[in-house]
Amino acid sequence: MGARSVEDAHNAVLATAKELLAKGLVEGTAGNVSARMPDGNICITPSSVDYRTMALEDLVVIDTSGEVVTGTRAPSSEKSLHLACYEAFEEVGSVIHSHPVHATVFAVARLPIPACIDEFTVYVGGEVAVTEYAPSGTHDVGKAAVACLADRGAALLANHGMVAVGKDPADVLHVTACVERTAEIVLGAIALGGAVPLPEKVNRNFKGVYEYLRNN
Ligand SMILES: [Zn+2]
Repeated sequence: MGARSVEDAHNAVLATAKELLAKGLVEGTAGNVSARMPDGNICITPSSVDYRTMALEDLVVIDTSGEVVTGTRAPSSEKSLHLACYEAFEEVGSVIHSHPVHATVFAVARLPIPACIDEFTVYVGGEVAVTEYAPSGTHDVGKAAVACLADRGAALLANHGMVAVGKDPADVLHVTACVERTAEIVLGAIALGGAVPLPEKVNRNFKGVYEYLRNN
């Protein structure tokens, strides 16, 4: 899976990066968006460029070993996280790393976000786990994330933020926003006395829908 053309990938990555900031899912120049292209190379946002002024020519194309193929900027400092996801899961066509406030509260508390909303399991696959801790920008972040993403659309990076995977940037932005919204709702439910998980059978059925959507 991935973008239909090089042009598609660039347009989708740029539009999604700007929306990530507009939706408050990142702050400043944090976070990063990428898409797999038909030739197997990856289009990724650059390091330390303001999303508001970011243009198509700021995007960087890297190969699967992380070497720059085209572009004048340095690729995102979390490129190895993106590459690890593409290497592990051939059906994944896009990766987004973000720092949403409520999801990061769970990442800092090192608590999973429970599956307690129907659409959450449909789009994400079930409870979103916290990875093993690894310092930002290291290969270990990717290794830790991949361990949690085989049957899930997102994982919480311990003491850091979130990573989400899916077919294309718009799809992965939706997953990111869905996880963040659920994290906020669950925190509210905990304040009211606790979040009640979905019945196990319902959760299993919706997980089946997620797996179908991920692989088809
Ligand atoms: Zn980060």
